[in-house]
Amino acid sequence: MKEHTQVVVIGGGIVGAAVLYHLTKLGWSDVVLVERKQLTAGSTWHAAGGFHAMNSDPNVSRLQAYGISVYKEVEEISGQDVGMHLTGGINIAATAERWEVIRYEHARHKVIGIDSHLVTPEEIKKLCPIIDTSNVIGGLFDGNEGNIDPYGSTHALAKSARKAGAEVYVNTMVEDLVHKSDGTWTVVTDKGNIHCEHVVNCAGLWAREVGRMAGVDVPIIPMEHHYILTGDIDEVRDFDGELPMMIDLDGEMYLRQEQNGVLLGVYEKNSTPWSVDVTPWDYGETDLLEPRLDDIGDALMQGFERFPSLADAGIRRTVNGPFTFTPDGNPLIGPVRGVQNYWSCCGVMAGFSQGSGVALALSQWMIDGEPEGDVFAMDVNRFGAFATKKFVIEKGMEFYENRFKLLCPNDEWPAARPNKVSAIHDRLQQTNAVFGPSFGLETPLWFAPQGSEPIETPSFRRSNAHGPVGEECRAVRDGVGIIDISSIAKYEICGPDAVSYMDYLFASRLPDIGRIRMGPLLLPSGHLKGDLTVMRLAADKFMVTGSGYLQEFHMLWFEQHSAGKKVRIVNRTEELSAIAIAGPASRELMSMAASGDVDNSSIPFMSAHSMDVGLAPCLIARISFTGELGYEMYVPTAYAGALYDYLLDVGDKLGIRPFGIRALVSLGMEKSFGIWSREFTPDYTPAMCGFDRFVDYDKSNFVGREAALADRDADHVHKLVQLEIDSSDADAWGYEPIWCKDEYAGFVTSGAYGHTVEKSLALAYVKTEFLNTSNNEFSVHVVDERRPATILTEASCDPSGSRMRS
Ligand SMILES: Cc1cc2nc3c(=O)[nH]c(=O)nc-3n(C[C@H](O)[C@H](O)[C@H](O)COP(=O)(O)OP(=O)(O)OC[C@H]3O[C@@H](n4cnc5c(N)ncnc54)[C@H](O)[C@@H]3O)c2cc1C
Repeated sequence: MKEHTQVVVIGGGIVGAAVLYHLTKLGWSDVVLVERKQLTAGSTWHAAGGFHAMNSDPNVSRLQAYGISVYKEVEEISGQDVGMHLTGGINIAATAERWEVIRYEHARHKVIGIDSHLVTPEEIKKLCPIIDTSNVIGGLFDGNEGNIDPYGSTHALAKSARKAGAEVYVNTMVEDLVHKSDGTWTVVTDKGNIHCEHVVNCAGLWAREVGRMAGVDVPIIPMEHHYILTGDIDEVRDFDGELPMMIDLDGEMYLRQEQNGVLLGVYEKNSTPWSVDVTPWDYGETDLLEPRLDDIGDALMQGFERFPSLADAGIRRTVNGPFTFTPDGNPLIGPVRGVQNYWSCCGVMAGFSQGSGVALALSQWMIDGEPEGDVFAMDVNRFGAFATKKFVIEKGMEFYENRFKLLCPNDEWPAARPNKVSAIHDRLQQTNAVFGPSFGLETPLWFAPQGSEPIETPSFRRSNAHGPVGEECRAVRDGVGIIDISSIAKYEICGPDAVSYMDYLFASRLPDIGRIRMGPLLLPSGHLKGDLTVMRLAADKFMVTGSGYLQEFHMLWFEQHSAGKKVRIVNRTEELSAIAIAGPASRELMSMAASGDVDNSSIPFMSAHSMDVGLAPCLIARISFTGELGYEMYVPTAYAGALYDYLLDVGDKLGIRPFGIRALVSLGMEKSFGIWSREFTPDYTPAMCGFDRFVDYDKSNFVGREAALADRDADHVHKLVQLEIDSSDADAWGYEPIWCKDEYAGFVTSGAYGHTVEKSLALAYVKTEFLNTSNNEFSVHVVDERRPATILTEASCDPSGSRMRS
């Protein structure tokens, strides 16, 4: 066994083996994998081995498609049979709502790059003769689905890595991790110590234990999961071909062929977490859990109804095994904040769909410093302290039980809520707010009419929120609205080196004292890393604000660049609340409420001032996402409730009205303002999305400068534009394809109804070749049909920006 190496990968399941292989594939060969028993000894050996590329997140989907292609690659390199059955797969719909969503998904696959097609019940029956299609409306077929041998695929990955120089130590238990003062690690095993630069937690079922060795909390919960293997079925034996992977979304089950019978897996409604505190070290390799046939009886009955011949075939074997779930079902990958050179690659629920994809992204991150494209959906830093043990269990169960639930974009799942509430929460509740969580904090989405239930109907079309949100928008454009924006992330950055540090980190010029600037963060590749707002409070003191759910993501980036700098970086998000008022009457309100002058010369647009508002000491920032004259007030949380009451009281005669995030998004959309995770992500560069106007290319040095300069003058395939869509009942949400006549021309990133301009609007990346021609008959596929669309040359509301500057 080596005593020194560059990377120790802990865990030899499908994920650890894939990480080992990808590190070598990308050029690092001094890497080892340590497995306490034999390869596959965790969840991997008893998996059903099904794989598919479909995922609602295009980047996850791209990685899954890549992962499927790796199986053949490693089979060739290693000579190890991976047992690949590329049968294709069908998602079937048995309700009208599901059928509509499946067709919507199919349209969006054009954007994601999945070559799927719709199939009729007759075609489904031909492909899978054992199905009862009597209530099936249709299905979605993807040829890039199937199943793989868990043993063969894991060994093929490990053998391929070994051929490239990696070493694999089985029957070797990692007992402890010692972090050295230089950031390197001593991996303590029962066979001796290994000194290394990086460790990767691929410990699957034991990821929590391996996390604890380094003081890291891993937000996962193992869940029990059953599948049955049937005896032989005549129709299967006589079938000329192999059954496709069948997913009955409404029945919450999956089925695939296994020899002359089938394997049927179920996601039952009464889920069972397993080993909620610790995973026993003596579990694994050949262990299975006791089947709970009573608990899965209803789910199995549904399976027998859908596939009637199963009832007669008999159950040959029942498998009940545990595998890990995160609160949102996505993996946990990337560097762990605060623990240098410690990498997470666990919580991978669908290891055979996702193993090589997450391994590729992680290996790029370790070797190149950043993964290719936006992988925030899988970033370990999307969770924070709010992901407590109870939170993780409740969310994990909710995800398991809703694995195939019809998920609408306006759905807010109820488990583990409320978790964090703002200081104004009770007041918002009294005014019938409908909430949604952001980084665990309940934030007001919209306000339901008094006397009605504060619940939004999940829908792909305009919901019951449409009318009230419209009223909120008009109140802001015509008078004054008030919103709790406490979820905004607030960072204080100060110290003797604060200026040089900030100047290097941000691609924009730093604001003067008392002023505010947009602050793009770039990756070394010149792609976007963040879209923050920078306020300069003193010569060497800044307040930086951004999207609240990115707190850990931002803090990690800040800290990674602060080595050797005399700079203090504090996340003040929870100790500071934030309330914003917006609308033409907001200055009148401020003049009555604030302790100082608030006219345009005293508090000009994009300036920040300390001032009392009522009894509360506030930092007032004159910025606006609504496109209206507006003020944000940052205040110690203890004052926030009284400040809110005071503003409502003083604003009463101006007709002040609370508004929520949905109205904010609609108002921002009318101004063509993009948002992070939609228009702005690491997939794009400043020049692609118009963020270049905030970049100071003349600055001598900042992260990503060289790449950003080269990119500024490059030709881009896509450009961010705004569209008006001719639609009367639904608006775009994201990733809808755009067509120019019948040619694919681009995709929507976000959409909303512009209530005060009375237009269905969307922001979209459109191929530049279609922007420069007269051939511009555009349409966008929204829900169930293509709807005509026009590219707008300017924002639909106040394109000159005079209202917010007034
Ligand atoms: C019944 C069932 C059916 C499933 N069906 C599918 C399916 O069809 N498709 C699909 O994609 N997924 C399926 N899964 C999920 C799949 O099994 C997991 O996503 C996958 O196995 C996770 O792999 P992993 O490598 O992350 O973890 P694991 O397989 O748990 O591997 C972790 C490894 O780390 C080792 N280890 C842990 N701690 C240490 C230590 N301290 N020192 C050394 N080694 C250590 C363990 O021994 C183990 O081998 C199924 C799961 C179950 C239970």
